[in-house]
Amino acid sequence: MSQIKTSIPSRKFDVLVIGAGGGGLRAALQLAQDEANVAVVSKVFPTRSHTVAAQGGMNAALANVSPDNWHWHMYDTVKGGDFLGDQDAIEYMCRAAPRLVIELEHIGVPFSRLDNGKIYQRAFGGQSQNFGGDQAARTCAAADRTGHAILHALYQQNIRAKTHFFDEYFAIDLLKDDEGYILGALVLEIETGEPLVIQAKTTLLATGGAGQLFRTNTNARINTGDGMAMALRAGIPLQDMEFFQFHPTGIAGKGMLITEAARGEGGYLVNGEGERFMERYAPHAKDLASRDVVSRAIATEVREGRGCGPNKDFILLKVDHLGEDVVRKRLPGIRDMVQTFLHIDPINTAIPVFPTAHYTMGGIPTNRFGQVVAPHQQGAEEPVPGLYAVGECACVSVHGANRLGGNSLLDIVVFGRAAGNHISEYLRENRYSRPPAANSVDQALERLARWDRRGDGETVDALRNDLKRAMEHYCGVFRTEDVLREGLEKVREIEARLQNVYLKDHSKVFNTARIEALELENLVDIALATVSCALARKESRGAHSRIDYPERDDVKWLKHSLYSKQNRQIDYKPVRMKPLTVESFPPKPRVY
Ligand SMILES: Cc1cc2nc3c(=O)[nH]c(=O)nc-3n(C[C@H](O)[C@H](O)[C@H](O)COP(=O)(O)OP(=O)(O)OC[C@H]3O[C@@H](n4cnc5c(N)ncnc54)[C@H](O)[C@@H]3O)c2cc1C
Repeated sequence: MSQIKTSIPSRKFDVLVIGAGGGGLRAALQLAQDEANVAVVSKVFPTRSHTVAAQGGMNAALANVSPDNWHWHMYDTVKGGDFLGDQDAIEYMCRAAPRLVIELEHIGVPFSRLDNGKIYQRAFGGQSQNFGGDQAARTCAAADRTGHAILHALYQQNIRAKTHFFDEYFAIDLLKDDEGYILGALVLEIETGEPLVIQAKTTLLATGGAGQLFRTNTNARINTGDGMAMALRAGIPLQDMEFFQFHPTGIAGKGMLITEAARGEGGYLVNGEGERFMERYAPHAKDLASRDVVSRAIATEVREGRGCGPNKDFILLKVDHLGEDVVRKRLPGIRDMVQTFLHIDPINTAIPVFPTAHYTMGGIPTNRFGQVVAPHQQGAEEPVPGLYAVGECACVSVHGANRLGGNSLLDIVVFGRAAGNHISEYLRENRYSRPPAANSVDQALERLARWDRRGDGETVDALRNDLKRAMEHYCGVFRTEDVLREGLEKVREIEARLQNVYLKDHSKVFNTARIEALELENLVDIALATVSCALARKESRGAHSRIDYPERDDVKWLKHSLYSKQNRQIDYKPVRMKPLTVESFPPKPRVY
């Protein structure tokens, strides 16, 4: 096997974690405490990862406020995901949840408290007692800044455990050997533009979601789906990409998130006629129905002319009846944001909202140990040796066709920890480093070199805006065959235009321009996966809502989709319906 070019510096670790959000840091902490030599690479300073923005909280059946049970949490999650979630992984997550909340509190997360000193829990959408009965209150929160508290605590614990951080390094592509082992990645130091090979016995992708696919979204600028695109290029298909969550309450026209906690604390939605319309769409759960249900209801009200404002293009979220105390104590961050961006005070004025792109349910297929699994030549699924994925970039799949609020912070810590444990085992059995194949490094370098020139086409900015507008227009809350077909053509055309994109300010901000081009290339691959799978799935399930196929079709479509980059084909695989210890929840009509 030929050697890596000596001109490129190279470092060696037991584990390379790509991504310093909650998922990556929880895994890294487990490993560093287990005395593995861990490197964490992040394109931004770790505590700026998107996890920091999580507001509402994290679900666990602690039963501090209402009677509760992990089995009810499991039922709600299966139902919330419209029966597409894998029930073994869902059982595992819901059972582990209470322990992980306590663990976080022990490492310093300042959860809000009840008067009796126990951890406060608020009501969130899709939560029920007793398998679909009364509303449950299951979401543990640190006011409305829960992600901030969790991410900072995890970062501090990693510093203490001596995790090695590569801050502001951009991962380009995975490296492998001829036997298909994943052995690290080629990364780029953003400040200097110098490439670096990080070799590792195992690599964990924890790069977060791809909300930047859509024009209005709640995500950070960095959420460009890089890890998912890296997996696609490494020959791994992406799972269930047609399922993208639109959060019902983004600030109208801007997209920033107003947490579901606003409704959990007693807020509700009204249309232009002052009607509390959710009562018509979800008579039982009302404003706390599942997110896909509430988003469709808002979009329908506006489409049918019952919106608010001069253009009737938004809905109002009222929290002004809750009283100043509740807003100040439970929703301080929201109040701050609304005052900053809308110049109104939610204590006395309703907030204009509209659905906004929020969460990538699909991603890199894994099992509940975080191992990436891909179809083998013979068709059966097998773990890809040395490769793991957790968090929003992964699809394990606990969220199925629609994620419940508060389940993602849970997902990242539960599966971050599980992956850490499994990697420790893997390291015990695979003690020696293997070098990546030289051609694998060359390929990654070639990808970088492709952006070492300035085309004479449009700018990265202009093209990215086109892509985001196209995705919003052709692949939004409601979808149809014709519109999706046009959307696919449009994204393909954008893919072609990308080849000739113009990199501005070559000399001054060269790296930023190059990184934005690399990110856009990733987004285009993910857009193709998303639109292709949305076009193929001829049913409505969870967040994927086809006007031309309005019903869920369990006979034909109770299956996961798998999109591959090589032949741009979509395969399907069965849903894992069998939980670990309890009876499975078979599909039934989903009403709230
Ligand atoms: C505004 C908002 C509010 C939310 N509120 C809640 C909530 O209340 N409850 C809940 O359960 N969920 C919530 N979510 C969802 C949840 O926060 C996220 O799904 C979760 O935090 C994702 O964590 P992660 O570790 O997978 O990725 P992230 O936290 O997104 O981190 C990704 C990491 O990958 C790194 N990275 C990416 N690409 C590269 C690359 N090419 N090279 C190097 N590094 C790279 C980034 O630098 C970053 O460190 C919210 C999401 C948003 C956007």
